[in-house]
Amino acid sequence: MGKLTSFKRSLWVFHASGGSCNACDIEIIAALTPRYDAERFGIKLVGSPRHADVLLVTGAIPKDFADKLRRIYEQMPDPKAVIVIGNCGTSGGVFYDSYNIAGPIDEIIPVDVYVPGCPPRPEAIVDAVVKAWLKLEKLEKQLEGKEE
Ligand code: SF4
Repeated sequence: MGKLTSFKRSLWVFHASGGSCNACDIEIIAALTPRYDAERFGIKLVGSPRHADVLLVTGAIPKDFADKLRRIYEQMPDPKAVIVIGNCGTSGGVFYDSYNIAGPIDEIIPVDVYVPGCPPRPEAIVDAVVKAWLKLEKLEKQLEGKEE
């Protein structure tokens, strides 16, 4: 993994939960609470995808949520990154053969980072956000025409 070259700005994250059992969602909250305290790095949850750099998605995505997830993704400004938290969104997990599942998520929107686990630990979630941060830095350089 490369090194972060700068922390030019805070990284704002929007969380979309589609059919999650809630355990992955609780681990995201745990990453923000004092033990891990991701906010000290400027990583914070925001209430609108229009304000977000990174989209965190949990759950196996029921069919009636797929269009909503596409709309959430389209509302985010560029550059943006998507992280799938948990086995459900990565592969379908325990719901892989359900009649009502539209996922895995990368069949609905582009995914940059996968965090496997049922649920994954907060350390893995913070590590995934750092990986997304590296992608965003690269995209920003491309947008500025400074790609090495
Ligand atoms: S991956 Fe496991 S913990 Fe996460 S939403 Fe699915 S069943 Fe729940």
